[in-house]
Amino acid sequence: MNENKLIIFSAPSGSGKTTIVHQLMEKYPWLEFSVSATSRAPRGAEQNGKDYHFLSADEFEAAISEDKFVEWEEVYAGTKYGTLRSELERIWAKGNTILFDVDVKGGLRLKSIFGDRALAIFVMPPSVEELRRRLVGRATDAPEVIEKRVAKAETEISYAEQFDKIIINDILEEAVAQTEKTILEFTNR
Ligand code: ADP
Ligand code: 5GP
Repeated sequence: MNENKLIIFSAPSGSGKTTIVHQLMEKYPWLEFSVSATSRAPRGAEQNGKDYHFLSADEFEAAISEDKFVEWEEVYAGTKYGTLRSELERIWAKGNTILFDVDVKGGLRLKSIFGDRALAIFVMPPSVEELRRRLVGRATDAPEVIEKRVAKAETEISYAEQFDKIIINDILEEAVAQTEKTILEFTNR
C-alpha cells in the first residue's frame, strides 16, 4: 500500500532540503507537499494556498481551538506554523504520499504520532560554516537573519540522531540519490 504514508523533512535552513525535495518531486508526481498554515505574512512571490495557508494571528488561534492542526509550533518568536488535518485528507484522497517541511520539533512530533507510517529524514549540512556560505549564496535573507538561522542550526543539529535517516548534503547529486533510494524503499514504489 502506498497510501497513508508520510515523509517528513527537517533541516536547518540552508541545508539544501528544498533543492533535494524539488528534484524528487519533479521525478515522482505522487509526492505531494502538505501546505502548512502560518501566522506570518507572505514573502515575495509566495501565494496563499500554495506556499502556505496564510492566517492572521486571530485566525491561527481559532484554528488551534477548533482542533484543526495535527501539530503546530511557534517556530520563530511570535510566528506560528502548523500542519492542517485537512491537508492530510486532501493528499491521501488522491493516493499520494505526503511530504512535510517542518521544523525539527514538528518533525519529531509527527513521527511520534504516525510511527511506522512516517519516515523522518534530517538533511544535514556538511558543516555550519558551509551552511552559512549557502545562506549567503542564496541571497534571500538579510545578514542578521542569516546569523539567526545559523545560531538556530546548532540546536537543530542536536536533534538529528532522533530521525530515521540523516542525509548529509555535501555533494548534491549524492544526497539526491540517497534520498531517492530511502523514499522508494519506504514507499515500496
Ligand atoms: P533549505 O531549503 O534547506 O533552506 P535550499 O535548498 O534553499 O535550502 O539551499 C540553500 C542554498 O544552498 C541554495 O542556494 C542551494 O542552491 C544551495 N545548495 C543546496 N545544496 C547544495 C550542495 N550540495 N552544494 C552546494 N550548494 C548547495
Ligand atoms: P519560513 O522561512 O517559511 O518562514 O520558515 C519556515 C520554518 O517553519 C521552517 O523551519 C519550516 O520547516 C517550519 N515550518 C513550516 N511549516 C511548519 C509546520 O506546519 N509545522 C512546523 N512545526 N514547522 C513548520
